[in-house]
Amino acid sequence: MANFRKLDDLGDVKGKVVLLRVDLNLPMQDGAVTDDTRVRAAAPTIKELSLKGAKVLLLAHFGRPKGQRTSDQSLSLVLGAVEKVLEREVMFVPEIAGDIVKQAIGILGEGDVALLENTRFWPGEEKNDPELVKAIAANGDIYVNDAFSAAHRAHASTEGLAHVLPAYAGRSMQAELEALEKALGNPVKPVAAVVGGAKVSSKLDVLKHLVTQVDHLVIGGGMANTFLAARGVDVGKSLCEHDLTGTAEEIMDAADASGCTIHLPYEVVVSKEFAANPPSLRTTNVHEVAADEMILDVGPTAVEAVGDALKTCKTLVWNGPMGAFETVPFDAATVALAKIAAALTKEGSLVSVAGGGDTVAALHHAGVANDFSYISTAGGAFLEWMEGRELPGVKALEI
Ligand code: ADP
Ligand code: MG
Repeated sequence: MANFRKLDDLGDVKGKVVLLRVDLNLPMQDGAVTDDTRVRAAAPTIKELSLKGAKVLLLAHFGRPKGQRTSDQSLSLVLGAVEKVLEREVMFVPEIAGDIVKQAIGILGEGDVALLENTRFWPGEEKNDPELVKAIAANGDIYVNDAFSAAHRAHASTEGLAHVLPAYAGRSMQAELEALEKALGNPVKPVAAVVGGAKVSSKLDVLKHLVTQVDHLVIGGGMANTFLAARGVDVGKSLCEHDLTGTAEEIMDAADASGCTIHLPYEVVVSKEFAANPPSLRTTNVHEVAADEMILDVGPTAVEAVGDALKTCKTLVWNGPMGAFETVPFDAATVALAKIAAALTKEGSLVSVAGGGDTVAALHHAGVANDFSYISTAGGAFLEWMEGRELPGVKALEI
């Protein structure tokens, strides 16, 4: 990763207008925000700029309104949540460019914060239309991007603005980039990757990239079944993409060629029905799965073996649960491995970075999310980064 400007590089911003891209795509239910994690992630940058006396204009998208104003996707719906986290009043401006924004800036005092409308109400946002970029930039002096989670999109507010205004990474963007750099960009070796989740098809590019980057690749979850099938294991009724066994073989060959050891479960937890604590639950060698059984988790001995491999590693990057963790007891392998990784991190022998919607939920479920070196909540952007792609919103910040 090349260098990028941080808030430390900002000169005097007193009275200047900062266009700050944040992630305010908050989950809502019945008109109420159910999780304000993303606001809390943006708060340090907002507060820092405000303390320095800037007029802070928040730019964000909300849902997928596809270039039209819709009342249920107005960012005014999250204003209350933003004010609550920031513990201050925030002005709502129902535009992102033009005279109304200009007038609002005239009313704002130094250090004040305003929330602009959902950028995706304007078709030019997702098209990265230079005219819209110019119109938004006309009201600002500086652009700060603190939304890593939107950095895989080259939109006006995530990419375009960085080319027309002095551009800086916010604190949350900076933390994410530094953590990712430590995990895959320039990691301390040996490096282990743990990849799990339901399907191989959704993570093919992740696996292909990782085998060229890491020393150990642990494959778990439903996707391990496709690899096991490729090795001739009968996986019974398990979730398995039989049409992808050829691809799985190619990935294993590529791993061989680049000296990456692939770890597949040799012991698994199976049952005949997918339910909590099913009567047919048993732990077995992977070669003894019956035709009417499903593999729903990695077995405890196999998890221990993965733990032993992790003990020889300095860096871990993790995406995807080891089993169907939402249903007990198929959370056991994910929880056990999470605890091992957390303990090694606490000891100081492992840098651990994890990401992915279900992965983050699983680590919280295991009670160890805070013990990892870094947890990314970026979803799609995190996965694209794991695929080794250049994220346009990050690239645009590089100097
Ligand atoms: P993330 O959101 O962290 O990227 P994924 O969405 O790829 O993770 O995968 C999570 C899903 O994979 C979970 O819903 C989990 O139940 C499912 N899963 C994991 N292992 C299995 C398995 N052996 N069989 C069926 N589903 C599984
Ligand atoms: Mg998921």
